[in-house]
Amino acid sequence: MAFVSMKNLLREAKKQHYAIGQFNINGLQWTKAILQAAEEERSPVIAAASDRLIDYLGGFKTVAGMVAALVEEMSITVPVVLHLDHGSSPERCKKAIDAGFSSVMIDGSHSPIDENIAMTKEVAAYARSYNVSVEAEVGTVGGMEDGLIGGVKYADIHECERLVKEADIDALAAALGSVHGKYQGEPNLGFKEMEEISRVTDIPLVLHGASGIPTDQIAKAIRLGHAKININTECMVAWTDKTRSMFKENLELYEPRAYMTPGISAVKETVKLKMREFGSSGKAAYTQEIKV
Ligand code: 13P
Repeated sequence: MAFVSMKNLLREAKKQHYAIGQFNINGLQWTKAILQAAEEERSPVIAAASDRLIDYLGGFKTVAGMVAALVEEMSITVPVVLHLDHGSSPERCKKAIDAGFSSVMIDGSHSPIDENIAMTKEVAAYARSYNVSVEAEVGTVGGMEDGLIGGVKYADIHECERLVKEADIDALAAALGSVHGKYQGEPNLGFKEMEEISRVTDIPLVLHGASGIPTDQIAKAIRLGHAKININTECMVAWTDKTRSMFKENLELYEPRAYMTPGISAVKETVKLKMREFGSSGKAAYTQEIKV
């Protein structure tokens, strides 16, 4: 299999106090940039397709086939996880697994906790037989994501405890003040709640909406049990700023390769910087021994 589960990668990262970046993919060139960054940094990497973008990207099979082919053609040697971000239902998660994804997030956070747990259990039971890792969410990450806007709702510690105890998951996204998209003002994460949730659940935590969170807060979140950190907006902004500047300099451009390549290089540089910030650079050799 071209991809690995994130189960052992995250356990090891948590133990050694670093985090593995999840970078959302927005097309083929984008995926190439993420994989190249990981290879150059010798870092394990989580390439993720958001459920809401699956149709735009060509469907589950297209995404899995494209990423697997790139891993092979680019001779990628670092561990690569192909993850479904914000899976909207057990059916969508199962489709991703059937297509070859090695990890899924079931996002039942908008439903009452009993329904969230039931959904998560259904996905986990299916995922286990394929050695696919499962992430679940409690509370609501606010902000704008793939065109949808929502408010922040802090994760409830008892709900987190129940979800981890009752459903067989590998990572927990406990919403604690982060938002998807651009922050208005300074991000304000609930570190006290984070510490308590990390202590009672004892599971690798996932930080959604990490674009724009200052380095010192990222470091603190890692110290308090975050082993997976999700980045999308910073890569999108890097690509858009660069591409816009290409047209500012020369409005006559019409060849996509000419005006897209600099933006893609900006995505690669952003990913590399994040890997260094999260401490995952140079960890590929070690995690390769434990990949499943
Ligand atoms: P940002 O777009 O804020 O980086 O968040 C990414 C994310 O959490 C994807 O699930």
